[in-house]
Amino acid sequence: MRHLAEGVDRFQREVFPTKAGLFAHLATTHQPGTLFISCSDARVVPELITQTDPGELFVIRTAGNLVPAYTPGADGVAASIEYAVAVLGVQDVIVCGHSACGAMTALAEGHDLSAAPAVADWLRHADASQARTGAAESGRKVAALVRENVAAQLANLATHPSVACALAEGSVLLHGWVFDIPTGTVEELDAGTRPALVA
Ligand SMILES: [Zn+2]
Repeated sequence: MRHLAEGVDRFQREVFPTKAGLFAHLATTHQPGTLFISCSDARVVPELITQTDPGELFVIRTAGNLVPAYTPGADGVAASIEYAVAVLGVQDVIVCGHSACGAMTALAEGHDLSAAPAVADWLRHADASQARTGAAESGRKVAALVRENVAAQLANLATHPSVACALAEGSVLLHGWVFDIPTGTVEELDAGTRPALVA
């Protein structure tokens, strides 16, 4: 924990002064252009991968970068999506999967999740992704599931009324990315792997 406090101290002394003007502007302005949905995995850092400044990305992070399909009722992920799309008016939404994803590995390799029942329940939101990769050869299963899962979550995203409305108006674009940890590369999935209505 001490290194975190030291990091805060270094940020205030060395980094903040170089961005003081930006933070003064952001103190009263919140106009991110992109909603970035990634896995909670500590190795995936949206602002680092995209080299963006504070204020540019509205970020939602969930285990397995899963986006539950819309259902009426309170839901923290749905509320964040609605706020980003309908209130802040982001122009782009990115769902970013990644290599060696623990959530996708647990599903692809059939791990016993009985000691983590909340995780097991949450991963049901990847049922469609898993169904589509059933025939993948065993050595490729995790990588195949990571890709299918990004496409499936983009489809889930489109079921949210705020996203459906923005897609119909042509005011938002959905994008699927996969970040490869060992090489630092980002692959953008082509339109063929994305749901209808996505340009
Ligand atoms: Zn992950």
